[in-house]
Amino acid sequence: MKLLLIGPPGVGKGTQANFLIEKYNIPQISTGDMLRENIRNETSLGDEAKKYMDAGKLVPDEVILNMINDRLNKHDCNNGYILDGFPRTIPQAKGLDILLGKLKQNLDSIVVMKISDSLIIKRLSNRRSCKECNKVYNLIFDPPTISNKCNDCSGNLYMRDDDNPKTIQNRLNVYHEQTEPVIDFYHNKKITKEINADGSIMEIKNNILNSLSK
Ligand code: AMP
Repeated sequence: MKLLLIGPPGVGKGTQANFLIEKYNIPQISTGDMLRENIRNETSLGDEAKKYMDAGKLVPDEVILNMINDRLNKHDCNNGYILDGFPRTIPQAKGLDILLGKLKQNLDSIVVMKISDSLIIKRLSNRRSCKECNKVYNLIFDPPTISNKCNDCSGNLYMRDDDNPKTIQNRLNVYHEQTEPVIDFYHNKKITKEINADGSIMEIKNNILNSLSK
C-alpha cells in the first residue's frame, strides 16, 4: 500500500499515520519529522531547514526531494509507505512522479483530510509532543494523564517552536497557497479520497479506513 496523506498542519496526519502503520505494516515517511531529527542532530541540513521552519515557511523543494529520494530507496519501503507532509508543492508532486517512475511504483490512494482553519488554530496552539518518543497530545482533546508527562514513556512534553500563533497563521497561508494546488494536481489520477477530519481521533480513523476500503 502506497499512501499519501494531505491536509493542513495540525489536521492529525501523524496521529492517523500511526494507525495505518499498524494496519498495513509499512513505514510512515514524514518530512517534518525527518527535518526535526536533522535539527536535533545538528546536521547542516537541519541548520538550513530550521530558518524556514521557525518562520512557518517551506523548506526548498530541492532539499526535500533529495531527502525523499534517499528514503524511498531504502529496503523498508519495498512493500509500501505512508507519505505524510509531502508533497507540499507542485514541483514536489512532479518530482515525486519522476521518482516513482524510476522506482516503477504507483501511489494506491491519496487521502485528503478536510478541516476548518479555526479548528486548526485551536488544535495547534494546544498541541504538545513528547521529547523522548515523539507521541503527540492535545491539551483539550487528548490530554496526558499526568500534566506535561508522556503516558507511554514519562518523557517531558514540549510545544513545537512553530506552534506559536503567528507561525501557525503563516503555515496555514502556505498550505492554502502552495499545497492546495497539489490536491487539484492529483484529482485526475482518480485515487483521491476526501475525508472529514473534524471529529474525534477514532471518528477520523474510521473515516479514513472506510474511504480506503471503497
Ligand atoms: P510538519 O511537521 O509536516 O508540520 O512540518 C513542519 C515544517 O517542516 C513545515 O512548516 C515546513 O517548514 C517543513 N516541511 C515539512 N515538510 C515539508 C515539505 N514537504 N516541503 C517543504 N517544507 C516542509
